[in-house]
Amino acid sequence: MRSLTHEEAQRRAGLVRVTGYDVDLDLTRGAELFASRSTIRFSAERGAATFVDVAPRELSRASLNGRPLDVAQLAGGRLHLADLQDDNELVVEATMAYSHDGEGLHRHVDPADGKPYLYAMSFLDAAPRWFACFDQPDLKAPFALTIACDPSWTVLGNGPAQRLSDGRRRIESAHPVATYFATLVAGPYHSVSGTHDGVPLGVHTRASLARELDAQAPEMLELTAACLDEFHQLFGVRYPWGEYHQAFVPDFNAGAMENPGCVTFRDAYVFRSRATDAERNERATTIAHEMAHMWFGNLVTMRWWDDLWLNESFAEYLAFRVCDVIDDYPVWVEFASRRKAWGYAADRRPSTHPIAGNGAADAKTALNDFDGISYAKGASALRQLAVRLGDDTLLGGLRDYFRTHAYGNATFADLIGAWTAAGAQDLEKWAEVWLRTSGLDTLSVGAGPVVYRTGEAGRPHAVTVIAFTQQGEEIARKNAVLLDPVALVVPTTPALVLPDARDDTWAKTALAAEVWERVPSLLPALDDPLARVSVWNALRLAVADAEVSASLALRIVEAAVPGEPDAVLGPVMRWAVGTVAGVYLPAGMPRAQGLRRLARAADSAMRAAPPASGRQLAAARGYVAAASDTELLRAWLAGDRLPDGVVVDDELRWAVLARLAALGAVTTDEIEAELARDRSAPGQVHAARCRAMLPSPEAKAAAWQAMMTDPGASNYEVYALAGGFWHPEQTDLTAPYVARYFDEIAATAALRQGWVVARLAWLAYPSTAIAHSTLDRSTALLAQPDLDSGIRRSVVDAGDDLRRALASRAQFG
Ligand SMILES: [Zn+2]
Repeated sequence: MRSLTHEEAQRRAGLVRVTGYDVDLDLTRGAELFASRSTIRFSAERGAATFVDVAPRELSRASLNGRPLDVAQLAGGRLHLADLQDDNELVVEATMAYSHDGEGLHRHVDPADGKPYLYAMSFLDAAPRWFACFDQPDLKAPFALTIACDPSWTVLGNGPAQRLSDGRRRIESAHPVATYFATLVAGPYHSVSGTHDGVPLGVHTRASLARELDAQAPEMLELTAACLDEFHQLFGVRYPWGEYHQAFVPDFNAGAMENPGCVTFRDAYVFRSRATDAERNERATTIAHEMAHMWFGNLVTMRWWDDLWLNESFAEYLAFRVCDVIDDYPVWVEFASRRKAWGYAADRRPSTHPIAGNGAADAKTALNDFDGISYAKGASALRQLAVRLGDDTLLGGLRDYFRTHAYGNATFADLIGAWTAAGAQDLEKWAEVWLRTSGLDTLSVGAGPVVYRTGEAGRPHAVTVIAFTQQGEEIARKNAVLLDPVALVVPTTPALVLPDARDDTWAKTALAAEVWERVPSLLPALDDPLARVSVWNALRLAVADAEVSASLALRIVEAAVPGEPDAVLGPVMRWAVGTVAGVYLPAGMPRAQGLRRLARAADSAMRAAPPASGRQLAAARGYVAAASDTELLRAWLAGDRLPDGVVVDDELRWAVLARLAALGAVTTDEIEAELARDRSAPGQVHAARCRAMLPSPEAKAAAWQAMMTDPGASNYEVYALAGGFWHPEQTDLTAPYVARYFDEIAATAALRQGWVVARLAWLAYPSTAIAHSTLDRSTALLAQPDLDSGIRRSVVDAGDDLRRALASRAQFG
């Protein structure tokens, strides 16, 4: 499929007005193919020509205004339309293929009971994989869908589903939708419904998760209701999409997708094993995020993908803001620990980009910018803006923006205009430095103490500067807008000055070398978790920038991680095991020794935490990831020698088995036996990962073959194989695959399409081959001009991580 360019989209939008889609699907034709008939009514410039997007297995028939079109002229997913009239009717009939990569119309057979589950994912440009359309965000139109399927199935979409007299179902959207929002959820889904303030609510998932959904639905529905109230109050416009369904679906690539009236989520959010408090918060903020999109994105849609931040930064900011009000969970600690760490990693890479106005020459490259910058950095910039404008202006502008552009499209300039009308001043300049300029400012502390801001953008930062003693006691505090240096008055020399101690802004906090030496004893003494998480983010950036050694980072983790809440403990342990011990430790300190120390730290955290708490669970997972005591891990599988409160349920069992697999301490038969115990979809994925982790030439060859050459492998299977393939303890075994990755990865773009292409390139990158020769191969691959843009981004980013590991080893090794 050829990717639509911005220029083509502008030209087509100037020519075409779509008045309605009427799509008819026959889902009774077996497990591989379905029939799709699209009727598109649109007005156009008389005599002009354009094209419609459609990506079928076979195009059967097409007609424009009753005149047959030559279906053989379909090329690159485009069917040419000539001699347009003022009002047109286009009919396209095709045989389409179900997908197994989470895009288009995805079909999954649940291994637990053999039942099929379907859902459509049109974002970002996958709508033509299930119906013919003018696939761009600014050609919104009412969308109607008629479906022939098993009469016992649940059917959901962008409006209420009605049963027709012939048994088929009919769904009509209440208002115009962009093509990337069109969805369908169909299958023997299990449902729990409710209602709030006149809005019918439903949560749905596959039958094998019915018990879990029944138990967790009250919490989800209660949160959904509270979010509705909050958004009604914030936005002054009622929820416009009628019913509100949330479907938890298999093999989903993203966290969730905000289809109007029918959000799809990854079904791991229906917890089948125990979850941490941080994971419940992640689910809550994801529910709130998608709900914010019902206004931001769905009611008012960006004109083109270069304004994707209008969707994502706002949804991210608003989700955490409303969850902070609804829940007493410290959501901003979790935001800093998980979301900001993701964004900082993106922002320090060569592929960094401004929050707004990213060009997005075509739809395919736009997908690369759905990253931690568009979400976490954008949300952080909006937190800064909220402080600057105050809520009256911030919300006043937003309400005006929704009223003016409801059911249509808008741009960045429209929003700036709305805020300016609401009283904002000098917003253009603020937007220029915060939104249109890339890069990360640095906040540092000099003698005095004086806090400095450096960075080319010249961003003002609203922060709280706090000075602490070595015992963690606060001795001075100042609220400041940091642009020029700010001096702090202190009664005595502080041991630590934190420039952004409440974690309010987006910047790197740079601490002096002698301060980092004090951090192992100082960090656990700080009372405020926001102050501590700002130090953890500073540490992760300092290690990546070769300013703090891996061995000092290990000392800090050992000293401070046991006291952290699960929101911090989980991500920090994963980073310490995977990055610090996995790739940064120099050859002088064996990895095994680093892992032993991390395992001890996790063990003490596990024993110090309240039994059965989220903190204990996060520590237990950290312990398993670092453990090398195979006898103890095996005892855990048998239910023995467990700390009080730790339960080895399905997910933790697989984590233990994966660690044993990496250590070569299980056989293929044992993995199969585990799979026989847990014949679920996640079980299959875990088993694939475990097999790929086994340290044998046969296991590696089989995993490589499947992920690099099998077009039938599902997206989750591909991620599991690639995620399990490289291991720091197996570098000799995997050495031959380093060159093979660079020889073979480009061709995978022809094998698969969409998200899975870039994600495989990222996960399969030889991240454990820490050598200059790996970097040289990266550079050579990037010199190929026709390399797929998603693969290119992954290789650039993974190569940058590798370069940083080499720099750290050179600096401290
Ligand atoms: Zn979103």
